[in-house]
Amino acid sequence: MSNPTLSNRATDLEPTSLRGDFPILGQRATSGAPLVYLDNGASTQRPTQVIEAMSGCYRDYYANVHRGIHTLSETSTDRYEQARRSVTAFMNAASSNEVLFTAGTTAAINTVARTWGDQQLGANDIVLLTIMEHHANIVPWQQLAARTGCQIQFAPLDDDGHIDQAALDAIWQQHGDRIKLFSFMAISNVLGTVNPVEKWVAQAQQHGAATLVDAAQAAPHMPIDVQAWGADFVVFSGHKICGPTGIGVLYGREEVLESMPPFLGGGAMIHTVTTEGFTTAALPDKFEAGTPPIVEAIGLAAAIDYLTDVGLERIHLHELRLTELTHRLLSEIEGVHLLGPRNPRDKSGIVSFVIDNVHAHDIAQWLDTRGIAVRAGHHCAMPLHKDLGLSASTRASFYLYNTAEEVEQFAAAVREVQTKFARTGRRRRRRENSGE
Ligand code: PMP
Repeated sequence: MSNPTLSNRATDLEPTSLRGDFPILGQRATSGAPLVYLDNGASTQRPTQVIEAMSGCYRDYYANVHRGIHTLSETSTDRYEQARRSVTAFMNAASSNEVLFTAGTTAAINTVARTWGDQQLGANDIVLLTIMEHHANIVPWQQLAARTGCQIQFAPLDDDGHIDQAALDAIWQQHGDRIKLFSFMAISNVLGTVNPVEKWVAQAQQHGAATLVDAAQAAPHMPIDVQAWGADFVVFSGHKICGPTGIGVLYGREEVLESMPPFLGGGAMIHTVTTEGFTTAALPDKFEAGTPPIVEAIGLAAAIDYLTDVGLERIHLHELRLTELTHRLLSEIEGVHLLGPRNPRDKSGIVSFVIDNVHAHDIAQWLDTRGIAVRAGHHCAMPLHKDLGLSASTRASFYLYNTAEEVEQFAAAVREVQTKFARTGRRRRRRENSGE
């Protein structure tokens, strides 16, 4: 996966014309300032089209799916399966049997670890991760290691916020025969780094290893093509792509999903049940036990329609421009250090930073007084922060509705923080020196 060149091509995405679709963006923050929402890496906002699609389902045709032989149930089943086809097209999967609805990225990775992982991994095997992974792509493998005795290895960072390709090559050279899975993020939720998905999948395949791509930060921002990537598993969450919470996607290559045991047992995932045992339903039902997220799937399909209409490529280019502007403005502020690749074109719309002698929580709190919502903390990436020698950072993350003016307001507020806290620090140091 690589960033398209910006060249001189106009993005022609006009965020102000889209903002009216997002009712929440019209409100003012408690301070009275207009809301500047820059916490999209955590969760995005929803357009009216998604809210309406979901309330329309509840209002007009809601019933449980795959069960009733009555009109409402048939309609909601049709719409639920239509949503699966929308996701199939969105990811360019070969078949809707390869698209499973889960509760989110975390649930999807845990499903793979509990089924494929328990089936395939043994004591001598290695799960390869990168040091930039989100906890959702670390902890399930640590739990798997506790169950099976398999080992976990982390590919390290270089000094420009990329994974060190030479070190990764060396890991494959040394342990290639033992690595059974390479599970990695397409885009870092902290550094913004865009990883070379196709190259890494091909490298894993040369060694006969399976691959899982955590696309939680990629699916919202650029076109994804699971057939071009060639990975065995690809996962993402609905709430990060303008869709609802409580739904995510686990894509798996059909023959891999066929070979895996089911995870949750219960209704809908069975073909027959007797007092002696059960047989499983065909894909995709085999992995969707119980009542699925029906209304959420319909909302997710509406979000996909919305984003497709705007154009993922345009969204990505728009965010790259905001990222470039942020880099430029923040680099001008003394004491501010940006995390991740120095070249903003190597990133997606995520800019994390630290300010000398100012805690990330203080930065976020100050920005909040200006109506600006950002994230502060370890962003569920504690190993990455430890590796960088940090306990926390502050993250601004953009989406299609953010504007250059918002970035300017954000940078001006960061400058205020730096000035205010640097002054406080100077005063404290003077007091300390004079023995007060
Ligand atoms: N992976 C990455 C890269 C993420 O950014 C996130 C969400 N912050 C997750 C996994 C987990 O997603 P969810 O909480 O929706 O399961």
